[in-house]
Amino acid sequence: MGEVSQPQNNFRCSDGASGLASDTGVNGAAWAALLETAWAALERAHAPYSGFRVGAAALMSDGTISAGCNVENASYPLGICAERVALGAAVANFRLRPGQLTAMAVVSEAEGLTPPCGACRQTMAEFARDIPILLANRHRKKLHRLKDIFPEAFTRGNLAVEA
Ligand SMILES: [Zn+2]
Repeated sequence: MGEVSQPQNNFRCSDGASGLASDTGVNGAAWAALLETAWAALERAHAPYSGFRVGAAALMSDGTISAGCNVENASYPLGICAERVALGAAVANFRLRPGQLTAMAVVSEAEGLTPPCGACRQTMAEFARDIPILLANRHRKKLHRLKDIFPEAFTRGNLAVEA
């Protein structure tokens, strides 16, 4: 604890980002940049209570990448996940709008991979109904599709009310 470790971006491994490019519509260089951004964000996480650091990166259709890390609070329920921080930053800094979210990467140092929570899946669905989501830790990666892990999003269509 307390020592600074360098991110180990092992996306050049055989299970690495380059092998993900063909079936995601996102090229290997973009996946590599997403992972690098997410790992760098993890190093900036504010997680003094849980010690559970998470980094996220959101890729926009114009190639812009927005970083996020988890931000905890002494009032525990106010803590915000890395994914929603990345998306909020994308809106605030780069004017992210629905249809412009292309992919996300989520990294942690946990033994198991760290999937987005329900709130984060819903927030992703505001900006894209289906994107590839790459989960990674220091040892492995796994690719998911948002529509597979969150098939029934609440969308703007559900807001319609009859007069
Ligand atoms: Zn979350």
